[in-house]
Amino acid sequence: MLDLAIIGGGPAGLTAGLYATRGGLKNVVMFEKGEPGGQITSSSEIENYPGQKNPGESGYDFMSTWWAQCSHFGLKHEWANVVRVSQNADKSFKIELEGGASHDAKAVIVCTGSTPRRAGFAGEDTYFGRGVSTCATCDGFFYKNKEVAVLGGGDTAIEEAIYLANICSKVYVIHRRDEFRAAPVTVEKARKNEKIEFITSATIKEAYGDASGLCGLKLNTKEGERDLAVPGVFTFVGLNVNNEILKQENGEFICDMVDGGQVMVNLKMQTSVAGLFAAGDLRADAPKQVVCAAGDGAVAALSAMSYIESLH
Ligand code: FAD
Ligand code: NAP
Repeated sequence: MLDLAIIGGGPAGLTAGLYATRGGLKNVVMFEKGEPGGQITSSSEIENYPGQKNPGESGYDFMSTWWAQCSHFGLKHEWANVVRVSQNADKSFKIELEGGASHDAKAVIVCTGSTPRRAGFAGEDTYFGRGVSTCATCDGFFYKNKEVAVLGGGDTAIEEAIYLANICSKVYVIHRRDEFRAAPVTVEKARKNEKIEFITSATIKEAYGDASGLCGLKLNTKEGERDLAVPGVFTFVGLNVNNEILKQENGEFICDMVDGGQVMVNLKMQTSVAGLFAAGDLRADAPKQVVCAAGDGAVAALSAMSYIESLH
């Protein structure tokens, strides 16, 4: 039986792992389906984590040292997709993995974060991966010196539009309102960039293309229909929390959730089930920042250690 299972290896999971192992827990496994680092590794830059030596470095570079530090203190990483967390009759937890294997653990911290949402316009799925992308760092280079579009008006959309403007000849930012959710300072920076053109109060009606991929977008704008002949569109329209693993066979969640599907926690990151903790973007009212996810992970690990101690 594991002392502690951590599910997800983003900033929350890695920090939980660091605190748990450095705090003396011996048998701690972090289940992560990909490379540790989380969603920030897809970001072109991060500059708001306290104490950064290189503000503005890529999210991938920023996260590259986190796993080594955790591993140094004894955190184990199992490369696995967790499909469900359930509770055994003795109140321990069962971690079910894709492929049928499972592990039991005294306590669990769920840090599965969130994933990009699809916008829902016609042709989005058809051209996904062939012109439609949710990662500027990954795919921006394919559009070097070409025109691209960005959909959305949040921090991600505006920051990534600025990043793409460094590579592409022009970036159209399409946003459904005239006001932006993104920080005003970021919007201001984008407005000053002559390669960025804002198309507000506009939506994508359809993405069209051919066998080679996306050829353009048909927009509905204030002035009527508009055609943008772009080979790439980056959609940044928000995130869905990854809560599926908390769903039980009967379709109910193992613990209390809020309406948006985030996990309800108290200030100790404790869910409504003793021994089950949630941290990072997945929990209710998360500010969705790396520093906050890391803080949550530390709190959750300290709480999990107290819980495990109380079992003796
Ligand atoms: P995540 O980072 O989402 O990590 C969750 C991990 O869980 C992932 O690695 C995933 O593979 C794994 N996982 C999920 N489900 C399973 C499963 N079933 N089994 C196994 N593993 C699983 N924040 C800032 O503070 N500053 C920024 O500048 C900034 N820029 C951003 C730019 C972009 C493009 C994006 C997308 C986000 C940005 N953020 C930024 C937000 C920040 O990345 C998140 O708030 C933070 O990563 C959340 O951390 P987390 O550990 O909760 O979740
Ligand atoms: P977000 O803040 O939820 O913004 C999503 C944007 O997409 C909004 O402008 C929204 O429009 C628009 N949108 C939603 N659904 C749409 C649809 N179907 N079609 C067209 N447009 C649609 O998401 P995010 O920008 O990914 O940010 C997520 C979180 O991470 C936020 O809390 C953000 O602050 C944080 N983050 C922080 C940083 C940073 O600190 N530097 C960087 C990136 C992200 P409306 O505005 O009209 O709703």
